[in-house]
Amino acid sequence: QSTDRYPASPRRLGVMGGTFDPIHNGHLVAASEVAASFGLDEVIFVPTGQPWQKSGRRVSAAEDRYLMTVVATASNPRFTVSRVDIDRGTATYTVDTLRDLREQYPESELYFITGADALASILSWQDWPRLFELARFVGVSRPGYDLSVEHLAPHLEGLPPEAVSLVEIPALAISSTDCRTRVHNHRPVWYLVPDGVVQYISKRHLYVDAPTTNHLNT
Ligand code: ATP
Ligand code: MG
Repeated sequence: QSTDRYPASPRRLGVMGGTFDPIHNGHLVAASEVAASFGLDEVIFVPTGQPWQKSGRRVSAAEDRYLMTVVATASNPRFTVSRVDIDRGTATYTVDTLRDLREQYPESELYFITGADALASILSWQDWPRLFELARFVGVSRPGYDLSVEHLAPHLEGLPPEAVSLVEIPALAISSTDCRTRVHNHRPVWYLVPDGVVQYISKRHLYVDAPTTNHLNT
């Protein structure tokens, strides 16, 4: 029975936050690997609202980022997309994302998935005692960033050992910044992002004109 394979209220929910401008295969591999390692029933992708850390660059319309995320995740029955951060209409803080999802799924355990680059800043800038009441954190490796316990240790002091897990995943040296630059320079993004996202970018003429700067975070 299909209801047995996909229960209505999954016990373990992955949460993958990001600007997703555009979503790329690095995001999808991170979610897939963590889902397999932790036996997650579902991974919810959550595109950010107005991202306060990206002031140097105009971020694509929330609706475009949302739709690209839907297109990229549509073929995986365990991947879904949430509008909570977009619909909140303000800058996105992980603590708000988790509070909203906890309210929506009171019976589930939340696993917040984040790359090595974003993990340290989430731990250092946010109301972290509250964060760990809401979710477990899973940091994944990312080429060019340090995921070592030594590097993260100052941020992890005083936390129970299960609060943050570190997972080595296949290294995909892909970033949204690089994808935007490629499109801007008329170079291909095939196989860096899902086929449907290549087509969506082209259909909506994304990134052709906009200058791109590097994102600091999330
Ligand atoms: P940008 O270059 O615009 O910052 P990005 O590629 O970093 O984009 P984000 O939307 O900022 O993508 O990232 C969302 C989450 O995915 C973050 O936790 C980030 O660390 C993680 N992530 C992004 N790319 C990778 C990758 N190639 N491998 C592992 N994790 C990644
Ligand atoms: Mg980033």
